[in-house]
Amino acid sequence: MRILFATTNAGKIREVAAIMKDVGIEVVSLKDAGISADIEENGTTFEENAMIKASSIAALPEVQDGQTIVIADDSGLEIDALGGQPGIYSARYLGEDTSYDIKNAELIKRLEGVADEKRTARFVCAMAAVMPSGEKIATKGVMEGRIGYEIVGENGFGYDPIFFLPQYGMTSAQISPEEKNRISHRGQALEKMRKELADRLQ
Ligand code: IMP
Repeated sequence: MRILFATTNAGKIREVAAIMKDVGIEVVSLKDAGISADIEENGTTFEENAMIKASSIAALPEVQDGQTIVIADDSGLEIDALGGQPGIYSARYLGEDTSYDIKNAELIKRLEGVADEKRTARFVCAMAAVMPSGEKIATKGVMEGRIGYEIVGENGFGYDPIFFLPQYGMTSAQISPEEKNRISHRGQALEKMRKELADRLQ
């Protein structure tokens, strides 16, 4: 068995491989598998988008070898003071190719004058798997925090440098990668997925 994780994001693959290491199943990326697919994420929720990605990849002829589990995730940042934005548009916010320094600075600016207790936000991750049998599995994880006032930290990726975790007094770009995997939206969704897979693969 192998897990084909439907992403090209190196940051995500690192996190996924670290968690799945315990299960003893190899995790490969689309790039590793030599697959270049341009999937339109046209769902309206994280859950829909994750399942669209996993199902589209699982339907490719080269993936139907009877031993590939396709997993995809869709994740993003919901900021309460912005009515849940950027949400499912997190990667596309201000343009897919715009740097996160610019995206993060813009979000801080949009929250100017917003009090601490109103700066609540969460990272959400929906994960979807398609088994070789065609069975579909969905899991979800959430990490609560607040939008900070400056860009801080070198770890993680994306919006991590503005995502303040009150319980640590740091952003998710400042805590260690291991700690982030333990508490993150993706870590939680993946841990639930790991259990679902372990149940089936025994
Ligand atoms: P996706 O690749 O379509 O799931 O888009 C996810 C986007 O949400 C990423 O490109 C980031 O902008 C943001 N995001 C999701 N998870 C994280 C995280 O753990 N840290 C920082 N940003 C994240």
